[in-house]
Amino acid sequence: MSRVLVIGCGGVASVAIRKCCQVSEVFTELCIASRTKSKCDALAAELEGKTATKITTAQVDADKVEEVIALIQSYKPDLVMNIALPYQDLTIMDACLACGVNYMDTANYEPEDIEDPEWKAIYEKRCKEKGFSAYFDYSWQWAYREKFEKAGLIALLGCGFDPGVTQAYCAYAKKHEFDTIDTIDILDCNGGDHGYPFATNFNPEVNLREVSAPGSYWEDGHWVEIPAMSIKREYDFDQVGMKDMYLLHHEEIESLAENIPEVKRIRFFMTFGQSYLTHMKCLENVGMLSTTPVEFEGHQIVPIKFLKELLPDPASLGPRTHGKTNIGCIFTGKKDGKEKTYYIYNVCDHQECYQEVASQAISYTTGVPAMCGALMLLTGKWNKIGVHTVEEFDPDPFLDALDQYGLPRRENHNPVLVD
Ligand code: NDP
Repeated sequence: MSRVLVIGCGGVASVAIRKCCQVSEVFTELCIASRTKSKCDALAAELEGKTATKITTAQVDADKVEEVIALIQSYKPDLVMNIALPYQDLTIMDACLACGVNYMDTANYEPEDIEDPEWKAIYEKRCKEKGFSAYFDYSWQWAYREKFEKAGLIALLGCGFDPGVTQAYCAYAKKHEFDTIDTIDILDCNGGDHGYPFATNFNPEVNLREVSAPGSYWEDGHWVEIPAMSIKREYDFDQVGMKDMYLLHHEEIESLAENIPEVKRIRFFMTFGQSYLTHMKCLENVGMLSTTPVEFEGHQIVPIKFLKELLPDPASLGPRTHGKTNIGCIFTGKKDGKEKTYYIYNVCDHQECYQEVASQAISYTTGVPAMCGALMLLTGKWNKIGVHTVEEFDPDPFLDALDQYGLPRRENHNPVLVD
């Protein structure tokens, strides 16, 4: 029996909400709150009569702490699931602290305005000290550790697929397969085709910022940064086939380097088709990925926000996307003094997702882990007070839940390694 407040009602949140409604015995009451309330109302209307979960809706601007506090105080949830955008992480964490409620999200904090001088000064210092220049990092949310510990609350960070399930795979490998892990390669393959020359599978602004940033990986205790898309490999993915993949910076590398300190190298690769890369480079070259406002015919326009309006809504890709995703981790390391390798991954079919929850597999592979993470917190299976990432919790009940609710694991004890 629990009351959950979900903030956000986009592609990922819609899947998470639909999945919560399949587990009504735990998610007995749900409030869907977002900036645009009509989207929450439409989803609530669609679910009416199909679930025992009691759904209400609310309007909230989660950039405003006081609005989130007022909503939490009136709804009195047991947990707040932040499935809005990374820009709202800190305001929602502040509100949870003020109201004494557990918190979770699916992506680590980054600011909406990267020209903000206060943020920029801290960012530039971090770039120099840590050696990677992505706009997002864990420092902002890790700064809340003591506050959550003192309040006796849990903040679960980054509980989607990557970050999220990939870290549970690492915790699982460490618990069951290895005494020591030497290397981790996280491989994110989307073999789906939506038929558009260019579209992003989740929020375009967040996605394009991530992909156009320099790549980086962790090696021998420090970051190595490389120009965007400059390390390319080919890999033959189970049920998808041969794909080009590129090394990216990704947020879970940072927490894994801290939580599995013996690991010598951690890399993250994502597959991209040539059409996507050509469009992205062109948009970047003409300034369309910029977050700095420009004046146009008397209006202030942020190019990347304008671009978002032109691109297909990721939530609309579901019916048109065919093919599969394959996301997982390849490990090398030692068990009982012997060298070994191990690959754990999930394969997810875009059309099967669409049939089940009216969404493509990218939102599905993020929304299902968000529901399963909430399930772990609400059932007390994960009860470590403080601010934590997924690899800090017991992976077993979480992976069991993923097996049950749509993202079953697959294993290979003799995988082809990435050179
Ligand atoms: P969408 O853009 O589809 O949805 C975002 C939702 O948040 C919308 O409903 C939007 O409302 C709402 N929102 C935005 N700003 C505010 C605000 N100030 N107050 C209240 N609501 C707000 O994004 P996605 O569903 O694609 O992504 C959701 C999250 O999941 C993101 O943080 C993304 O980075 C993360 N993600 C994580 C992945 C993982 O594997 N860990 C993979 C993919 C995504 P409105 O309708 O008004 O715009």
